[in-house]
Amino acid sequence: MAEASSEDVDSNANTPVSVPINYPGPRSDVRYPLNTQYCGECTLPLEYCEYGPDPERCREWLERTLPDLLNQMQASGSGDDKGGEKKRQTRGGKGMPKGKKKSEAQKIILNKQQRKGNKFVTIVQGLASNEVDIELARKFFAQKFSCGCSKSGDDELTIQGDVVSELIDLLPEKWNQINPELIEDKS
Ligand SMILES: [Zn+2]
Repeated sequence: MAEASSEDVDSNANTPVSVPINYPGPRSDVRYPLNTQYCGECTLPLEYCEYGPDPERCREWLERTLPDLLNQMQASGSGDDKGGEKKRQTRGGKGMPKGKKKSEAQKIILNKQQRKGNKFVTIVQGLASNEVDIELARKFFAQKFSCGCSKSGDDELTIQGDVVSELIDLLPEKWNQINPELIEDKS
């Protein structure tokens, strides 16, 4: 009983104090324990000599005093550079803009509107964006349907009469580049 309680006290005493750890942990390329070397010239840790008053003199001191350490630093320095380069490349790869998407062919929208009485007009949108010369198309429709055809928007023709069903067949016949599946009949 007494022994057990003394054990308890011991284990309590041995309980490690939990300390938040914010450093990334041991590095495979660093030999432990860390042994900070201070510069005999500028008195800063050697890693900080380059920020000191005279890095050139620090380097000379290091060459004179600790040539092995200098070689080691240079070796690990170049290693770090390689690692950095690799990281940058990876990041660049991820961030690379994807190839520009080929612009998709636009739909051709056919619609009809009732005008006075039971007269209709047919509205064709999207010809120009399917590489159709809108002015040639206007003339072609006027002749083909023997009716008025006018440009009613940037990429829109208005044909007198209801010619929607004719256009569905006619457009891909007349213009090879028009994909029949992209013709949308909204009438
Ligand atoms: Zn120094």
